[in-house]
Amino acid sequence: MKTAGLHHITAVTRDLQTNIDFYQQVLGQRLVKTTVNFDDPGAYHLYYGDYTGVPGTAMTFFGWLNTVPGKVGTGETQAVAYSIPQHSVSYWNARLKQMGFSPARVESRFGQDVIPFDDPEGMRMELVAEENLPAVEAWPGSPVPEEYELHGFYGVSLWLDEIESTSRILSEILGYQQIGQEGNRYRFHVPGDAPGKVVDLVHKPNTGRGIFGASSIHHVAFRASSDEHQQAIQQQVRKMGIQATQVIDRQYFRSVYFRTPGGVLFEIATDQPGFTVNESAAELGSRLVLPPWYESRRDEIEAYLPPIRRSLPQE
Ligand code: ZN
Repeated sequence: MKTAGLHHITAVTRDLQTNIDFYQQVLGQRLVKTTVNFDDPGAYHLYYGDYTGVPGTAMTFFGWLNTVPGKVGTGETQAVAYSIPQHSVSYWNARLKQMGFSPARVESRFGQDVIPFDDPEGMRMELVAEENLPAVEAWPGSPVPEEYELHGFYGVSLWLDEIESTSRILSEILGYQQIGQEGNRYRFHVPGDAPGKVVDLVHKPNTGRGIFGASSIHHVAFRASSDEHQQAIQQQVRKMGIQATQVIDRQYFRSVYFRTPGGVLFEIATDQPGFTVNESAAELGSRLVLPPWYESRRDEIEAYLPPIRRSLPQE
């Protein structure tokens, strides 16, 4: 049953160009897929990651341009953390400041340095300095030197009214182990060397529910190694009395969604087939790719979507 960790994280942007520029120029993440929201083809769905956007590196955004900004609270994912090399803390601090961001003071969490800052739309991000970095494939077009690059996700923090129900899902269904507690932060992880191994449950009983909007994190997806693995998780979720969707074809992975009793939307996504299913590694992200069932409406969709500019020349 055990997952290898996070597959992808999906959030909402209402400023596509700022979003693209931030992920590429500031964080050095590659735009690996330019497509539309399959349930709302009038909106972009952009994916960023390492060279091919392997599971554990894929940060994705729905471009919902008329959405008002969200407000962080309980029942949602509050922060996205990326792994950075241990020796790169001062590099990233300086880089963020130089590029107009205001990183908070470096925190020590479970013995690791953490740089907290907000992305251009106010989404909380954290860079966590790690000794044993997960392997990723560097993007040759990145403006960040390879020795300082992000190594995929470190993990996520969920803000919750109560942590028991989510902790049960993590440990009894997804194979996470609780490995520590600091104040109201309960740390869970899965062993292994993949990126995205950590989930922190942060107990925030008197905080108020989050208000969903731009800069909110829509859902977090965990990895299923196969369709059978995904099906087994789906069955366990249902056995716990939680509604889970049927398997939905997302072209780059197959997905099952369920809302946890704590309010956070979880997805179980298959590792296969990945982003190179319909573009070569070299051309990933360089053009608008539509799922086959929208191809006949391409002219209409292209005319509706606002123009976007990739901020860096492709290699
Ligand atoms: Zn998803």
